[in-house]
Amino acid sequence: MPEPPGGSIAAAFAPPDRPNEIMPTDEDSRYQRLPIPEEPARDRVSSFIEIKHAYPPDEAVIEAQRCLQCAMPYCVQACPIAQDARGYILAIAQRDFDRAATVVLRENPLGTTLCKVCYHFCEDACIMHERGGAIAIRQLKRAAMELGKADVEYVPSAPVSQRVAIVGAGPAGLMAAWELGIRGYSVTVYEAEPFLGGQVGAIPKYHMDGYELELDVARFRRLDVAFQMGQRLGRDFTLDTLRAAGYRAIYLALGTPGYNSLGVPGEKLPGVYAAIDLLTETNKGPPVVLGKKVVVIGGGDVAMDAVRSARRLAEGGDVTVVYRRGRAEMSAGAEEIEEAEAEGVQFLFDHGPSQIVGNGKVEGIVIRQMQLSPPGPSGRPVVLPVPGTEQTLACDSVVVAVGEKADLTGFPPELDLAFGKQGWPQGKHDDTMTGVDGVFASGGKSVVHAMAAGTRSAEGVDAYLRKQGGNPPTPRPDPFGQGIAPTLPKGYGGPTWTP
Ligand SMILES: Cc1cc2nc3c(=O)[nH]c(=O)nc-3n(C[C@H](O)[C@H](O)[C@H](O)COP(=O)(O)OP(=O)(O)OC[C@H]3O[C@@H](n4cnc5c(N)ncnc54)[C@H](O)[C@@H]3O)c2cc1C
Repeated sequence: MPEPPGGSIAAAFAPPDRPNEIMPTDEDSRYQRLPIPEEPARDRVSSFIEIKHAYPPDEAVIEAQRCLQCAMPYCVQACPIAQDARGYILAIAQRDFDRAATVVLRENPLGTTLCKVCYHFCEDACIMHERGGAIAIRQLKRAAMELGKADVEYVPSAPVSQRVAIVGAGPAGLMAAWELGIRGYSVTVYEAEPFLGGQVGAIPKYHMDGYELELDVARFRRLDVAFQMGQRLGRDFTLDTLRAAGYRAIYLALGTPGYNSLGVPGEKLPGVYAAIDLLTETNKGPPVVLGKKVVVIGGGDVAMDAVRSARRLAEGGDVTVVYRRGRAEMSAGAEEIEEAEAEGVQFLFDHGPSQIVGNGKVEGIVIRQMQLSPPGPSGRPVVLPVPGTEQTLACDSVVVAVGEKADLTGFPPELDLAFGKQGWPQGKHDDTMTGVDGVFASGGKSVVHAMAAGTRSAEGVDAYLRKQGGNPPTPRPDPFGQGIAPTLPKGYGGPTWTP
């Protein structure tokens, strides 16, 4: 653990004209995270109001002053987009919220969204974990976005007279639109749905109100980026029509709009919902009417969003998660699981469904005990049902949250796509190019991973188009037109994440 610079964190970050009078001086409190203001669990389950609230300015400054400003910041290395967290935390520690906002937005065009929903891989890597609480980095990003001047405009470089089409307006497509837009390309984003954001549109409002992405995309207003909504590739247009319209490169940022089913009898009964549909519809409103006994199948973050939303929709009803493995194997984040427990969600581990029963509508679900058997080809132990352990749980709604998948209806096979960990289509080449020249594809397992994928593909598109003119790739320009290039910490060894 490095020592605080100069022996005192407070002295190191207090502006010379403003002696620090708020930083706690005793060692213990320096290593404890300042609690994030939040709605009590008993109150919050009656509505979708946002649970977490911003730090007041003084508290944001105190929390920022806990940061050790590591010479080699693991927080930056753990971030898929190499966000300069150290830089904006320093600005907040010096009470300069405007500068903090600029630091965030210089390399992160979706800062207002990420400051509420990022899975904060930076905090997991923060060295302060060792002594107490990691710095509340996501919450400090929120302070930068809400207390600093975040309504800024991105400025395009000199126009490049080349058109690029992006298919899909999720985080990957939006990030690529930004990367190409600030380099001066003329970009059109085609999106099948009537709304931007892809799966971000399914994130429950108790995590973020829903206006955040609009604020982010409003900063694109000076870029040559246009949106064509309600346009589905494979139904309304094809790769050939895009080329005929003059697009020189195409990026497919398609994500996983489909979902896996359980494959058990009764799944088509009224009262069975796909988690992603339930969550998207709830956000769009009016809220879905669920019964009073809800069973959610799955153990990931989407299952947690579904069950916590069900708790709110069922208005005091019973909601239970049924998961085929144990708690330790759940892929949902610990914070999500703990918050769900605090909200009264029940968990039934080591059980899986075998049938959904009912007469014209869901009346129950037959579940059975599952047990681990030796690892299969993936290296993960296989889960198999234990014969004779069936029992029926009475319920009136079942929500299925067992993963999403790509929908490639109407796509040409020559694309020869590979699939990412959670099913998104991606090109097989390093620069994410697919089997078709000039067509790129990628996606990611979280918002920030998808943004990193969008960057990689945009860089691939730029390198591909520049090479045709005999030019090297364009480095990312300063998106504010001030000539300040993004900087990475000395000794930075590249990201530690995988897509
Ligand atoms: C319920 C839920 C909650 C989540 N919560 C979080 C969270 O809190 N934090 C976090 O970091 N991540 C979260 N995620 C994950 C995150 O949202 C995804 O990893 C991310 O959105 C993936 O981005 P993407 O751009 O690759 O794909 P998507 O977000 O899926 O976007 C793809 C877009 O392409 C469009 N599209 C697809 N096919 C076509 C076509 N043929 N023609 C035109 N358009 C098409 C789709 O309509 C969609 O808008 C959550 C996901 C879900 C489902």
